Amino acid sequence: MSSGSFDADLIVIGLGAMGASVTYQAQALGLSVLGIDRYEPPHEFGSSHAETRITRLAVGEGPQYLPFVARSHELWQSIGEAVGEVLFHQSGGYVITNSDGGKDDRWHDFVTATDDVAKLAGIPYTTLTAAEVRAAHPQLKLTDTMRAGHEPTGGVIMCEQAVAAQLTLAKQRGAMIRVNETVTATAADDEGVVVETNRGRYRAQHVVVATGAWIHDLAAPLHGEQLSVTRQAVFWFEAEDLDAFRTDRMPFAIWTGETIDDYVGLFPVPPGGTNAVKILGEQFSTTTNPYDVNREISDAEVADFYETHIAPQIGGITPNCVKRAVCLYTNTLDDHFLIDADPRSSRIMVMSPCSGHGFKHSPALGEAVAQKIATGASNLDLSPFQNR
Ligand SMILES: Cc1cc2nc3c(=O)[nH]c(=O)nc-3n(C[C@H](O)[C@H](O)[C@H](O)COP(=O)(O)OP(=O)(O)OC[C@H]3O[C@@H](n4cnc5c(N)ncnc54)[C@H](O)[C@@H]3O)c2cc1C
Repeated sequence: MSSGSFDADLIVIGLGAMGASVTYQAQALGLSVLGIDRYEPPHEFGSSHAETRITRLAVGEGPQYLPFVARSHELWQSIGEAVGEVLFHQSGGYVITNSDGGKDDRWHDFVTATDDVAKLAGIPYTTLTAAEVRAAHPQLKLTDTMRAGHEPTGGVIMCEQAVAAQLTLAKQRGAMIRVNETVTATAADDEGVVVETNRGRYRAQHVVVATGAWIHDLAAPLHGEQLSVTRQAVFWFEAEDLDAFRTDRMPFAIWTGETIDDYVGLFPVPPGGTNAVKILGEQFSTTTNPYDVNREISDAEVADFYETHIAPQIGGITPNCVKRAVCLYTNTLDDHFLIDADPRSSRIMVMSPCSGHGFKHSPALGEAVAQKIATGASNLDLSPFQNR
């Protein structure tokens, strides 16, 4: 390729939730986009699989996220309509904590934190006693020392479908998508960025690195050093009465305990979903990487999770685990997002590290990053996520 000629305005490396959305949005803004992924997304090796993701407008993680999730709810609707699919199921959702808020930093007093954000933005949100939750959903075995918040506007997003939809739309609008191709290096100069892969060499004016848990391979050390990858196990358990757990009857539940070890996330069953209830915990203490991570979940791990997390808290779930998946979080030190220019060049944007809560914001983040690349500014403020 001769100097000064470009294969694309933008190369997006990694086509999970983040990369698929920026590819679609940038192409829609009129940029020519080349998207590259080492696998064939949506796939089960990164962070954007396992059927569903929770979304809530009242994001207790902080007011900086409010405009992104609000815009994302609009985008799930329009993306779904464009491909003729329903991507978002509005089940409503609970956040549940101990009355004292618990000791965990990540989820500390999440009912109150969510209430604060809901009030700020006028989002419907009701705080409830344990008895009120048990009366509405007897499967949730809250003790009297617990309390909850309920947001009717929350729900679940079909995550693989959402990734596939955005890649389909991007391709329809002319984006080039290359799968089963691994980027091995990026190098920026005054004119653009050269991207080397195991199959070729491409050049663009801008690059987005959205490689999820593989972020350390391509991001500069400044970013790499402050990120960690953790393995998360996801289980689908058979229910005694599955209909009682479907999205039209059961809200999602984010159930924080005294510490992160007690955390349980319950995902209601969406139309057309696996005929079992998806339940997971969270862990941040053991770090890993996408190459060495144990992608198997043993029967012993299933039995332990059932005994410690499900039996004491959730009724109507049998010990029969019909499906399991390993998924990866890419975490920053403070559990917030890192979306910023690579320290080596403002032409390279890093946008994957979202500490296990990025999916619900991903279409709006993709739109904002695409706008910033196309015009130099974005409608929504990305500055809270810049290197802190
Ligand atoms: C179990 C679990 C539950 C979650 N629950 C929620 C939830 O309820 N709500 C919520 O909002 N968020 C949730 N999250 C977080 C959310 O899913 C992630 O923040 C989001 O999916 C991350 O997307 P990504 O595009 O950054 O990463 P990925 O989807 O992993 O995409 C990265 C892509 O980069 C590709 N790649 C890597 N290296 C290269 C390379 N060198 N060359 C080419 N391609 C490369 C990979 O193949 C992959 O496709 C959850 C995450 C997990 C794991």
